[in-house]
Amino acid sequence: MAPHVQTQPKKRLIGAAILREDRKKEDISKKMPRGLKMAAQPRTRKREKRKIISDDELCLAALRKPGVKGVRIVSPSDVVTAAWVRLKCQFGCDGYGQYLVCPPYSPTPDEMRRVLDSYERAILVHFEPTAAVKKVVASLEREIFLRGAWKALGLGAGPCYFCRRCPVEEGRCRHAERARPSMEACGIDVFTTARKAGFPIEVVRTRRQCPNYYGLVLID
Ligand code: SF4
Repeated sequence: MAPHVQTQPKKRLIGAAILREDRKKEDISKKMPRGLKMAAQPRTRKREKRKIISDDELCLAALRKPGVKGVRIVSPSDVVTAAWVRLKCQFGCDGYGQYLVCPPYSPTPDEMRRVLDSYERAILVHFEPTAAVKKVVASLEREIFLRGAWKALGLGAGPCYFCRRCPVEEGRCRHAERARPSMEACGIDVFTTARKAGFPIEVVRTRRQCPNYYGLVLID
């Protein structure tokens, strides 16, 4: 008799606790401004989407590559594009018009902005000065793609070095599987983007100064 007597109130207690929880949830929900309530849905969906490959897995995959010093998961909305970047390529870089991955063949800042805005997550990679940035970025892009992130797209640093002479007049890249434009060739302000992510970058004034190189892989 005693156990039976004890069971009933326990059930009632559990029921009461669930009710209290439900009421609490209702209260929080009531306190949320209308806009926030609506924003909660996509955030949950975003988290579900990210399960394809987690932030930690992405960071580990990048850190395993040769010449990688550090990584940050960033929002593509924090990747800064600006009109002046293309002019720095045009008036100041030997690579301008010499490679199919450089301006005027690469995306304009406006085109790149639209591309960036079609992604929700990216990984910014800080490289050693001697690293083969473009090679590593292409290999990381491929690895991420094969793990299920079908939108993965890598951007490196500097002009292309895969061919002795780039056949720009043919308009067809000989190594499309690994040739990627640099971030700056697509109108990305690398200085502001890197600093925003907490990475170091300075104007290189002397040959003895150690440069900082960055690559970006857009994920999903
Ligand atoms: S891989 Fe060769 S063809 Fe392609 S952009 Fe680089 S230099 Fe040009």
